[in-house]
Amino acid sequence: MDLSAPIESVKGVGPKTAEVLRRVNLRTIGDLVYCLPRVYENYQTTVKIADLRPGKVVIRGKISDLRLVRTSRKRLTITQGVIRDDTGAIRTLWFNQPYRAKQFDEKREYYFTGTYEFKSGRYQLTSPSATLVQDVEQDSAAGFQPIYSAKSVIKPQTFHKLMDGLRPDFTKIPDLLPLTDGAPKFITKGARAEALYNSHFPESPEDAEKGREYLAYEELFELILAAKLNKQENQRLKSIPLRFEAKFIQAIVQHLPFKLTGAQRRATWEILQDLERGTPMNRLLQGDVGSGKTIVAALAAAEATKNGHQTALLAPTAILATQHFESLGELFSMLGGALQRQKIAWHMPRIALLTGSTRDKRQLKKLIEQGEIDFVVGTHALLTDDTHFHSLAFCIIDEQHRFGVGQRQKLLLKSPENTAPHLLSMTATPIPRSLQLTVFGDLDVSLLNELPPGRQPIVTKILPEVEQRDELYPAMRELLAKGQQIYWICQVIEEKNANTATPVIEQAKKLAKLFPKIKVDMLHGKMKPDEKDAIMTRFAAGKIQILVSTTVVEVGVNVPNANMIVIQDAEGYGLAQLHQLRGRVGRGDQPASCYLLTTGEGKPSRRLREMEKSTDGFHLAEVDLKIRGPGEIYGSQQHGELNLQVANLTDTQLIAQASHHASEFVKHPENLQNYSELATRIKKYQQLTTLN
Ligand code: ADP
Ligand code: MG
Repeated sequence: MDLSAPIESVKGVGPKTAEVLRRVNLRTIGDLVYCLPRVYENYQTTVKIADLRPGKVVIRGKISDLRLVRTSRKRLTITQGVIRDDTGAIRTLWFNQPYRAKQFDEKREYYFTGTYEFKSGRYQLTSPSATLVQDVEQDSAAGFQPIYSAKSVIKPQTFHKLMDGLRPDFTKIPDLLPLTDGAPKFITKGARAEALYNSHFPESPEDAEKGREYLAYEELFELILAAKLNKQENQRLKSIPLRFEAKFIQAIVQHLPFKLTGAQRRATWEILQDLERGTPMNRLLQGDVGSGKTIVAALAAAEATKNGHQTALLAPTAILATQHFESLGELFSMLGGALQRQKIAWHMPRIALLTGSTRDKRQLKKLIEQGEIDFVVGTHALLTDDTHFHSLAFCIIDEQHRFGVGQRQKLLLKSPENTAPHLLSMTATPIPRSLQLTVFGDLDVSLLNELPPGRQPIVTKILPEVEQRDELYPAMRELLAKGQQIYWICQVIEEKNANTATPVIEQAKKLAKLFPKIKVDMLHGKMKPDEKDAIMTRFAAGKIQILVSTTVVEVGVNVPNANMIVIQDAEGYGLAQLHQLRGRVGRGDQPASCYLLTTGEGKPSRRLREMEKSTDGFHLAEVDLKIRGPGEIYGSQQHGELNLQVANLTDTQLIAQASHHASEFVKHPENLQNYSELATRIKKYQQLTTLN
């Protein structure tokens, strides 16, 4: 079977069906074969209503009494109904699937698969899936049946028919994974064909599970191999070696306003070692919010300057770039003075800021090109084609998950011809170990797993909005009386005709009325970059007490005197984002608090409860990975296409096996020529995972 043959070559696919299939990205036979069932329904295990036990169940019956109920809780609709068979009746319901009310024919029989449970004082079948009994019986795989997602555009029967047409050819599917050193036992000749067959035409749950395991392994192996090949390719590039001058770095460290943490020392040392090499560093500096990543990057930049080469720091927002520019400028001038007194030769880095609102960009770019600037801090404005460097040797990307692969590429292409710059990416979004081995396998990682001393834990509290008056306002008053500051984050819904600034403006008005003696101001997307910078500068200088804002303050901003953050409509944010937002406070030596306001009356979500329990970014990232999966967490920009079909990134044993297998494989570069299908397939992953 030629997996690369076009979809039209499948029996029963005419031009019209082909067009429909192409719309859901099914273009070749291979695409179809890899269009794996979402779940399997086991109709053999059907039970009578009279015999139901709590848990996952399949029942066969008719449904009636369908009606749609809207609850007082916002945005929640419930569809209720009653399912009957010849032994009894049970209540069933779906949340937020209003179409269910009109989906059924009350005269026909369906299989319902769902969870039978005791809720709100009675037993019910919650959110069952439903299939016409007639459809199941028409199908050859009756009984234990795969359910495909593609059925939204194509009838399940048609889809099953296509698969059945291909069925005799499944044994001819060629092998894919190499039987090289380190391959686990279940990688045998014909394993792939068998696994795909078992996935589409299983006779039992065990068949399906066996198929799944092989295919998960295949996916992980490809992903890990791609990352390892990227790393190898990176090692073939040349970069400017930056000599590690230990005495000089020690002198700087001695004059810092604080003592470096052990983790900061280790990370700095790892980075400085990498910078000495003639091949580009590709290192991720990972540390929770407030762990002090900036100073580590600054030390490395100081060394680049000492070596006579340029550094660029890319930040995702103008606010953050401005803040880095100011604090690094201050730090360098302080250090410059101190080192001069010690008679240590170092010309202070000449530092410049380049953002969208920088005035004389042309003049500044000329200076950069001539090498008159040593250290450029900037936003996307840095990436334009007319920004040239004299000798860019070192790039720092702050909050790297905010940038796409293309943007990072652009920056890295600005080094002198035939060289690649050393790259230090920084992130506070912790990358769980499973992802480090897979998606981020081409990166070296330095970890800041220690916060600077004296940090007070942030107390987090979920608070229904109705209790604001009694609990939140007094707490705010007390904090303001101590001269401290507050962030108030509003949820903004991006809709076509809505003015996204409205919630911010209204909340600011409300708070200004409540706290008449306090300076309340706001920050939102409708403001010009200049205005935003000005507001942020005033907030940092303590001239604004309450800053009502959208999530633009989410990344990196550092105002140590702000010790309370209130997040309105907290249910509307992801866990990673909530953790980042909370990281805006507790950056000084005062106790800090975070209020998560909810509007609903129901129990708060698992996300919010985890926030309340833990301030450990790593723990929260692991939880987030379980709740949402990797594609969403690591940003559509970066890894949007990373939708692992089968593999589960929590499957550590398979990951370890695949990692070992791939390591052995890349030891022999000629291997890839012998596995051309594999080479083609992993190109997609290579582009997706590359950080270069
Ligand atoms: P992040 O890792 O979130 O980017 P920053 O680099 O912004 O954190 O550092 C947060 C704050 O901690 C800054 O005010 C910084 O000056 C301070 N800081 C960094 N390292 C130390 C340290 N070792 N001891 C005390 N304060 C530190
Ligand atoms: Mg930072």
